[in-house]
Amino acid sequence: MRPTGRLHLGHLVGALGNWVPLQAQYDCYYFVADWHALTSDFAETGSLVSYAYENVADWIGAGLDPERSTFFVQSLVPEHAELYLLLSMVVPVPWLERVPTYKEQQDALKDKDLSSIGFLGYPLLQTADVAIYDAQYVPVGGDQVAHLELAREVVRRFNKFFGDVIVEPLPLLTNIDRLPGLDGDKKMSKSLGNTIHLSDTPDEVKKKVMRMYTDPKRVRSDIPGTVEGNPVFTYHDAFNPDTAQVDAFKARYRAGTIGDVEVKAALATALNARLDPIRERRAAALAKPGYLHEVLVEGSRRARVMAGETMARVREAIRIVYR
Ligand code: AMP
Repeated sequence: MRPTGRLHLGHLVGALGNWVPLQAQYDCYYFVADWHALTSDFAETGSLVSYAYENVADWIGAGLDPERSTFFVQSLVPEHAELYLLLSMVVPVPWLERVPTYKEQQDALKDKDLSSIGFLGYPLLQTADVAIYDAQYVPVGGDQVAHLELAREVVRRFNKFFGDVIVEPLPLLTNIDRLPGLDGDKKMSKSLGNTIHLSDTPDEVKKKVMRMYTDPKRVRSDIPGTVEGNPVFTYHDAFNPDTAQVDAFKARYRAGTIGDVEVKAALATALNARLDPIRERRAAALAKPGYLHEVLVEGSRRARVMAGETMARVREAIRIVYR
């Protein structure tokens, strides 16, 4: 995850929430992708490290456990850069130009200069991030499938020249639902300012929910409303475990026998109930002096041992070893 801002409910639905159960089944690596943050935000690095710590506190809050999984920082394992460089020697530039997000992001983020080699090479650095740990699987949502497909092609091409030296990763398809924004936009996203942060207080959550976009045609509560595509109900479906209550709200909303305020107040309550244990674990992690730093340094040390072994193998394979 890139430390470019505070984490929000979209990250919980699309990433963290999927990652937590994987810990029971796999040897998992989760990392702060600080170099990846530079691909789009190279001019704004002032908050990067503090976001990194905040994000890791959120991971722990959401249920990732540094005792069971390895948490590390990309830049503390500089072997990632070495593998990226070596991969770049065999990958044709058009492969990267053809990745759909390349043009999409350039069009979407017009205020950022995305013409750098770093941004073009983003999916190649991701390939190195994965391959350096001999990763079998990468948990991906819909927005990352093309990147993983590229990673597989890159690994095959590298192995074609140098032998069976790095492992071709497989996608582990996770929940690909996109959480819409508070404003009804199709995606909750930092750049759109339509988020509820995992670190928001109960009061902030309530205020944001009360101001949420809903059915705009419903100027009075006795007008039948639309449930489909209404983000208030999308959130109820995603976060309110009381399905009987949600079904009753939907029926009454369609019939025009319930006000938006009641539906939203219940949503705020459900969201806060979901966020409370996250807040607690998050606060406990932040309260221990030096704890997050220790987690990242120790995890990065462990990761580096593994990355070092892979790179020794890769250097042998490309026959650049000085004895
Ligand atoms: P970002 O911080 O936007 O680079 O997002 C990192 C990852 O979080 C993405 O690859 C998605 O898996 C997930 N994510 C971010 N925003 C959302 C959202 N609104 N709905 C679902 N998943 C999201």
